[in-house]
Amino acid sequence: PATSGEGVLAGLDPDQRAAAAIPGGPLLIVAGPGTGKTRTVTHRLAHLVLERDVDPAECLAITFTRRAAEEMTERLGHLIGEPARHLTVATFHSFGLQVLREQHEHLGLPAEFGLADAARRHQILTTLTGDERSARQASPQLSLARRTGAPDPLLADYLAALREAGLVDFDDLVALTVELLTDRPDIAEHYQRRYRWITVDEYQDVDELQYRLLRLLAPAGANLTAIGDPDQAIYSFRGADVGFFLRFEQDYAGAPVLALTRNYRSGAHILDGALRAIAPSTLVADRALHAAAPREAHRITGHRACDERAEAAFVARTVDQLIGGASFHSLDSGRVTGDGPGGIGFNDIAVLYRTDAQSRAVLEELTRCGLPVQKRSHDRLSARPGVELLVRELLHVADRTGPVTDQLRAAAKTVAGTVPDDQRPDIHTAAELLSPLAQRCGQDVQLFCREVLLGAEVDTLDPRAEAISLLTLHAAKGLEFPVVFLIGCENGLLPLRWPGTEPTEADIAEERRLFFVGMTRAQDHLYLTHAARRTIRGSTQDRSRSPFLDGLGELVTEAETPARRQRPAQLSLL
Ligand code: ATP
Ligand code: MG
Repeated sequence: PATSGEGVLAGLDPDQRAAAAIPGGPLLIVAGPGTGKTRTVTHRLAHLVLERDVDPAECLAITFTRRAAEEMTERLGHLIGEPARHLTVATFHSFGLQVLREQHEHLGLPAEFGLADAARRHQILTTLTGDERSARQASPQLSLARRTGAPDPLLADYLAALREAGLVDFDDLVALTVELLTDRPDIAEHYQRRYRWITVDEYQDVDELQYRLLRLLAPAGANLTAIGDPDQAIYSFRGADVGFFLRFEQDYAGAPVLALTRNYRSGAHILDGALRAIAPSTLVADRALHAAAPREAHRITGHRACDERAEAAFVARTVDQLIGGASFHSLDSGRVTGDGPGGIGFNDIAVLYRTDAQSRAVLEELTRCGLPVQKRSHDRLSARPGVELLVRELLHVADRTGPVTDQLRAAAKTVAGTVPDDQRPDIHTAAELLSPLAQRCGQDVQLFCREVLLGAEVDTLDPRAEAISLLTLHAAKGLEFPVVFLIGCENGLLPLRWPGTEPTEADIAEERRLFFVGMTRAQDHLYLTHAARRTIRGSTQDRSRSPFLDGLGELVTEAETPARRQRPAQLSLL
């Protein structure tokens, strides 16, 4: 760990350092992708603790996803060592859960209230609506109503049924916290005193409830650091509103607004291309953004395939080439491993797409070619309480009833941590690993494990696994990869068109931002592919290329599908 605040700032450029070293008060950092926003805010927390004697227990760092929270915790551990344990790094939802646990009495919730899983929610809605189909349709509406305050005819009855069963649901975690802190200024004040230092990453994607929660925790003048990029606001379909970002300066009058302008992530062509792509819809006037260091600037590669199978074949062959001659079947594991001539490994590669359905052809083709893949869907994850919540919960309750041994902690981590799918224990093993914990908590072992494993399934992308990552553009937020394939760059997918509707201008702008997010995940190699024909829900359609590609011009080089590479000799031994 770094031993002094100066050491912590040494890893930053002058703009980042200035932002990290601002003593207190509200602060807004507006900066483009790859400019080190997440890095800066992490180092800022470290600097506060090491150099300004801020008590780590008074720091609350809000991240957008569980994975981002894990990464920040790990990074802080490296920077400041042991005290990092006392910092609260949480998503809005895990923070809400913590508050509800502590304050359950004031909400009339039983001490050991449970979290409704997706199945339970579905069951309640089915009872209320009378059939499963209506229940499925009602579910997203209900969430949106809860997040935005829009009226919904089912909401009151649904909440009553939940409470009757002694349950709260995922949306409640933030909604009930906001209600409590609004009704009870004394409790709000308690949390304001407890968390004097708050940072929020990805601030452009807060929704109304999250915004209200922040206002309650950090009133005008508080030590609130918000960081984000309005051009990466991509969650408005879930109720997020970039308007909250844009009004920060009014909410926190006098707050310094700092920009970071050096992009450390992407080659110059990729960055130029991304900036051209976002230009028609940008929300950041006069954005100054340039590549920080001359890295080898590969051109963006374009490819038009005849259909989605050919598109998938292009991805597979290109991966094969990038990984190069070092790829071989390991005789021990029977799996392909590889580290290409340019040092590219499978975990350096991501395939991004607009809709989950597109992943199928790629998944099949990569698997057929013996290339290792891991797939994750963020969208489904958001629909249920995170695994982390459950395990943290369990540890929390267990903590109060007896010592939590390292062994138990390790067991919890194995079940809920980001381990590759094939190392994740099956449900029986998991039950065995966790039963000592679950027994002490009372909360049924099988039921708990089912919840954990269901949740775990949807968030298993492990940055260290030797596998190609397949993920939606939404899930790719905040991440980076040396090699990115953005597939399906077609009208109808980017921008996405729902059957029977025309996207509005606002929809198209958000789709363009999504495209921008996708392009800016790439460090060295970016491939933009599209298919001339695609089969969607059983019908084959002619497709035209995405209008978002217009204007990239000379930055893109069109490529043919590379020839299949000769497998190295080892293979013949198998
Ligand atoms: P996004 O908008 O996609 O969330 P970001 O602004 O949060 O991006 P980071 O993820 O913090 O950017 O940083 C992007 C990459 O640049 C990371 O690999 C990070 O380690 C690196 N980086 C950032 N600042 C520096 C620096 N001063 N020196 C070297 N590398 C840096
Ligand atoms: Mg970031």
